[in-house]
Amino acid sequence: MRIVLFGAPGSGKGTQASILEKEFGAVHISTGDTLREAVAKGTEVGLQAKSYMDRGELVPDEVVIAIAKEKLASVGNNGFVLDGFPRTVAQAEALDDALLELQKPLDAVINLRVDEEELVRRLSGRRVCPKCGEPYHVDSKPPKSPGKCDICGADLIQREDDKPDAIRNRLRVYQEQTAPVLEYYRRKGLLRDIEAAGGIDEITRRIKASLGVQ
Ligand code: AMP
Repeated sequence: MRIVLFGAPGSGKGTQASILEKEFGAVHISTGDTLREAVAKGTEVGLQAKSYMDRGELVPDEVVIAIAKEKLASVGNNGFVLDGFPRTVAQAEALDDALLELQKPLDAVINLRVDEEELVRRLSGRRVCPKCGEPYHVDSKPPKSPGKCDICGADLIQREDDKPDAIRNRLRVYQEQTAPVLEYYRRKGLLRDIEAAGGIDEITRRIKASLGVQ
């Protein structure tokens, strides 16, 4: 299975990508996670990316395209679930070129649709484990012991870009720069629109139904 999970920040791409990764044995490729690792390690790419990320702006295309290509080249015979890439039309074109070269065309682009009020609720309540990356939500997925990761016990944090000013900026950037990518894939006949408000399991079921798998 080779798919792109598409949607605004907070639409549930990361959550669904983790589930599909396990169910399909596909490799979950998240440019956001790779960039956050680079920032944490203080690499050259991390230093370049940090200020864009903290403000909720997009990191320059050439940086993320290089990351995505490297990850795609390493998946071998496995499928993949792209999460958070592409986010501009230039990235979508670069992805097409890379997949043509690898002879691995996309099966589908899943568009997770969620209204803006719900996106803000999800993002502002999101907490994450800085150590193992496990996501939480103060209302819908609270940790068992307040403020602590269920898996590794680390203190949970709120991402800098889940704070109110950055959230507003990310949603604006999504509308201006990322939403046009939908048209790109619609024209290619790859786009599947999924209503993505509601329970996690139900949304997974809708995604699988749209892909024609159980
Ligand atoms: P995410 O976790 O996918 O929401 O990504 C967090 C941040 O990483 C975004 O707000 C951007 O600053 C940056 N980022 C992740 N993926 C991309 C991408 N494909 N293009 C540009 N910036 C990205």
